[in-house]
This record gives sequence, C-alpha cells and structure tokens, in this order.
Amino acid sequence: MLIKRKAPWWNVFYLIEVISGLLITMKHFLFKKTATLQFPEERREYSDRYRGLHYIKTVNNVENCTACMLCPTVCPAECIHIVAEERADKEKYPARFEIDLLRCCFCGMCEEACPKDAIKLSNIYEMAQVERIVLEKDVLLDQRGGK
Ligand code: SF4
Ligand code: SF4
Repeated sequence: MLIKRKAPWWNVFYLIEVISGLLITMKHFLFKKTATLQFPEERREYSDRYRGLHYIKTVNNVENCTACMLCPTVCPAECIHIVAEERADKEKYPARFEIDLLRCCFCGMCEEACPKDAIKLSNIYEMAQVERIVLEKDVLLDQRGGK
C-alpha cells in the first residue's frame, strides 16, 4: 500500500533550498582551494617515491651499469633490452640499453634489482607521445629527472 507522507509546510518556499545551494557553491568558490592545476603553467609536485621515466646513473661520466642482465631478468613486462660488450679495460658495459615504454608498467622492479644502483625511476611524468617510445641509452643517460 502506498503511504503518502505530508511534506512540511515550509517546503513551499523553494527559495530556502535555492539559497542554501548557492551558499554552498559560494563557499567552495571563495574559500576552498581549487583541486585543478593550470597545466602546463602549473605542475604538480610528486613525492620522491613516484615512479616516472627511467634514467641511468653515471659516475665520472661513465654509466654505473655493468650489463649484469638482472633488470631485464626481473622485468615482468620484458621491456628492457641490453646488448653487453667489453671495454678495453675488460669491464662489461651495455653497448645498447633500451626500454620500451609502451610495455613498461612502472613497477620499479628494475630499480630494486639493480646491484649497482644504476637504473632509477625519476619523477618525470610527462611522457604522452603520439608514437611508440623506446628510451635508448643516450636518452637514459641524459635524463636525470628530479632525483
Ligand atoms: S619499471 Fe617494471 S616494467 Fe618498467 S622496465 Fe622496470 S621492471 Fe620493467
Ligand atoms: S641497470 Fe643494473 S641491473 Fe640492469 S644491467 Fe645494469 S647493473 Fe644490471
């Protein structure tokens, strides 16, 4: 059975509800900080733990990587490709080091696994492209990011 409830008499003054709605809008408009940013003029600060674009650390302008192949081994997306070669001083180094960003899921496992602390994830988050991006060694060495 349908029960009809009687609305209180003051409900006939819709103006009260309209004004209270407007007051809420004005409160947000005047006193609350906006949640949106005017990108690209304004940029969001991310925590140091943010995992963005990769880079390779250098020591005395030489990459810290010894091409040990741990990072491509642990990478769940199989997006790291390294070609190892030997220097004149018999030190192993990555002649080619590529990361396919389209496959990368930014899990940070490569960073965790690296025994030389060579591969790092920066806090650069601007990586929208119209083409498939494969980060090559020279880009990875250049890209120190915010860290
Ligand atoms: S962040 Fe994860 S998916 Fe991306 S390259 Fe490193 S291990 Fe692979
Ligand atoms: S970046 Fe680190 S884990 Fe990857 S090959 Fe180089 S030294 Fe090994």
